Amino acid sequence: MERLDVAIIGAGIFGLSAAWALQERGLHVAVFEAKSVGAGSSGGLVGALAPHMPEKWNAKKAFQLEALLTAQSFWAQIEQTAQQPSGYKRIGRALPLRSERLHNQAQVRAQEVPLLWQGQATWDVVKDIPECAPSSHGYVRETLSARLNPRQAVGALAQALRNRGVTIHEGHRVENAASLNAAHIVIAAGHQARHFTPDMPGEFWSGVKGQSALLNVTLPDTMPIVFESGTYIVPHGPLGTAVGSTVEYDWTDPGSTDDTLTEVLIRAGDLVPALKGAPVKDTWAGIRPRARLPDPVVGRMPGTDTTWLLAGGFKIGMGIGPHMGATLAKLITGQAPTIPPSFTLEHQLARCAPLQPAAKT
Ligand SMILES: Cc1cc2nc3c(=O)[nH]c(=O)nc-3n(C[C@H](O)[C@H](O)[C@H](O)COP(=O)(O)OP(=O)(O)OC[C@H]3O[C@@H](n4cnc5c(N)ncnc54)[C@H](O)[C@@H]3O)c2cc1C
Repeated sequence: MERLDVAIIGAGIFGLSAAWALQERGLHVAVFEAKSVGAGSSGGLVGALAPHMPEKWNAKKAFQLEALLTAQSFWAQIEQTAQQPSGYKRIGRALPLRSERLHNQAQVRAQEVPLLWQGQATWDVVKDIPECAPSSHGYVRETLSARLNPRQAVGALAQALRNRGVTIHEGHRVENAASLNAAHIVIAAGHQARHFTPDMPGEFWSGVKGQSALLNVTLPDTMPIVFESGTYIVPHGPLGTAVGSTVEYDWTDPGSTDDTLTEVLIRAGDLVPALKGAPVKDTWAGIRPRARLPDPVVGRMPGTDTTWLLAGGFKIGMGIGPHMGATLAKLITGQAPTIPPSFTLEHQLARCAPLQPAAKT
């Protein structure tokens, strides 16, 4: 096989986004995928691209803001190159306020948001949201969040890459990264990245299962994403309305759904009455890749010059993936991207428990 500049392991949102950013910089790239594009956690149903809460601003929130603000032009370019939809639409988000304390906190945030979000999105406290159940202290309605159809998005990204001449080798499980004929290797294997990092402390990785569903309900075009206590309701237009997700650290079967999903669906029906008892079109479960921290992680693998890790998208991978891919491309091409400290491999490795000193004999 012809020598590559970069071989990428994994065709999820992280691997494909890295491939996109690298080919844009003129590098000869190929992607190696064990199963098929989007076979991992990027092939799900939910697709909420939503920000962290705007207070206590830090480098991580600034990075995420940039990711969310650039998502619109990123997905427009992908759709144009692929001639396929991604399902992206900036529809904003509604957050119910259930107490006076939350209402007051939301009002304070409303004052800070124009500056923090650079005037690019709004955060208002409103009395109600059409289609949503009444909430005792109103709602926050923000305009930064967007929806993306995960399956359509990774499909479009893969097609855009192919149209740019990038080969995606589906059904090619990489056992040994060093066997790939490339100047640089990128490990973007989601929660299976642990396979390529045997020297890292066991506690570095956890795969966190999530279950979700697509309901056969078309909510009005004006309807935002709705979020409360871990439950997301994401209107995907005529495709239906996605509801997610469970958060399970202990699991045996990665792909099954069970009664814990029913609980999420009940909560969704309480938030948006039109979803109560609605027919289920599809269900899906996947494993979120979580690194040592709940933040994504990028960096050169210890002891190597040319092997890179790009993983740990956890709950925000679909939103932050393209920006993480661009960050990795900058690192590989010798630029100096701005990376929040907690996203670096060194930082996350340092957060693992130190090795126990050998017992004195
Ligand atoms: C239920 C659920 C809901 C979610 N909701 C949202 C949401 O609303 N918004 C959001 O932003 N994020 C969400 N996420 C998180 C998001 O899906 C992940 O953070 C993201 O998909 C991670 O992308 P990835 O490319 O790192 O991993 P993956 O998508 O898992 O991709 C890794 C790929 O590597 C391949 N692979 C593994 N080992 C090998 C090997 N040895 N050789 C070759 N290929 C290999 C796998 O087959 C897989 O295709 C959700 C996740 C779940 C499970």
